[in-house]
Formats: sequence, C-alpha cells, structure tokens
Amino acid sequence: MTVDAEYGRYERMRPDELSAMVAKSPVAYWPLGLLEHHGWHLPIGFDGLKADGLCERLARRVGGIILPTMWWGGGGGHHVFRWTHYQPESAYAEIVTNTVGQLFDHGFRAIVLLAGHYPWQQTLDRIVPSLRADNDQGLILAGTELTVGGDLGLSGDHAALEETSYGLALFPDLVDMKAMTSGRGGSDIWPKSGPPEKSEQHPAVEFDPAQPLFAQMGQDPRMGSGARGTYSANTLLDELQQQLEQFLHR
Ligand SMILES: [Zn+2]
Repeated sequence: MTVDAEYGRYERMRPDELSAMVAKSPVAYWPLGLLEHHGWHLPIGFDGLKADGLCERLARRVGGIILPTMWWGGGGGHHVFRWTHYQPESAYAEIVTNTVGQLFDHGFRAIVLLAGHYPWQQTLDRIVPSLRADNDQGLILAGTELTVGGDLGLSGDHAALEETSYGLALFPDLVDMKAMTSGRGGSDIWPKSGPPEKSEQHPAVEFDPAQPLFAQMGQDPRMGSGARGTYSANTLLDELQQQLEQFLHR
C-alpha cells in the first residue's frame, strides 16, 4: 500500500504551513477551468472540476499545494449557451501570467498549469514561453490533459464520451446520466438573448435542446464509464509524476 504524499490547498493554509510545505514539496498545481454548459448531465464547472480532480490526485502522489481553481476563462464557441461565462482573453491571461511569476517569487520551483478547457491551450502557448524564460531555474508543466504530459494517446471532446468518463471517475456524485432526456424545449433553455444564429453554431456541437446530447461534441457519453476515465487519468498522472520527480530529485 502506498502512502499519500503531503499536500495542501493554498487558500486553507496559514503562512507557517505554506513555508513548511514549500520547503518540502515546492510544487504548485493550478487547475484552469471556466463555467460553461457541459450538457444536461454534467456540472457547469466541469472543466475546472476535472482539472482540480487530476491536480489533487497528482498532488497526492508528488506532494505540494493546489491553488484555487481559475474559474474565469473563455474561448471555444459555447458562449451562446445559458450559464456559460466567457471573459476576454487578455483578462485571464494576465491573471495567470502575474500569478505564476508571484508563485516562483514565493519559493515554488515547479508549477503545473493543468487546463480542463481545451481553448486554454492557445493562451498557454502564448504566455508560457516568456514565463519559462523569466524563471529558467524552475519547471512549468502547462497544457490540457491532451498535451501537458506530451502525446500520451489520450482523446478529448466536449461533455461527451471522454469528458463524461473523467467525471464518472473523478466526481461521480456530480454526474447525472439520467438528466440526458430527449424532447426538451421551452423558454428556459437559452439566455434572454435567445438561441444563436445558424452561422454562430459550431457544426460538430448539438444545438437542438430536444436531443439528449444537447451542447455536446463527441461520441455518445452513454458509452462512457468510470473505468475509462480512471485509465485516462492514470496514464496522464503516471507521466506527470515522473516528470515532476525527475525535476525535483535532479
Ligand atoms: Zn470540457
């Protein structure tokens, strides 16, 4: 039986606790998500919850400190769905850039920016190179679960087979497969601004609320399982654990 590494949650820790833990495990984990419609069966914060669940499992293996999830993001074409919040990229990019610099300044040596929302990738591609150059003694692992560990053969989608399987593995109590009903309609589906014009509809996304796969993009999530999500998660976590331990013990 393996014993969990010591890890903590940044916002819950006192200064002495932070000092002691950073001296021992100088790794910060930052789940990057956003609030976005993820089908009838998944929570609105799905991407951040997925990233947080992966960060927590990684912290349990390696040790370190998890930052509060970055809930403000954007990009990806789901802004037309009710309950979704997209922010300007300049706003969230600046928060991530500033915070990463501060974390290194406070003594962290490795920072994991794990994005649960795939359009974070473009932002990370834009901001991470200069962050690495400014902190060349440190390690920054950045990307979505499809990229942060390199190409591990994992697949992604939106609220469909893959993401639903992560949900069933990481937080099954927040997933309600029975909520994917058909025949829905009515005035409570869209924001007050109404449904999007056809020209605004991503061709691979289901825009008909009467379909059980509404707002999804990908293969049918009813084929998903916790076992599938656990397998994908462990594939990623094994790789990230190895990269972090190699850096910390060199
Ligand atoms: Zn997602």
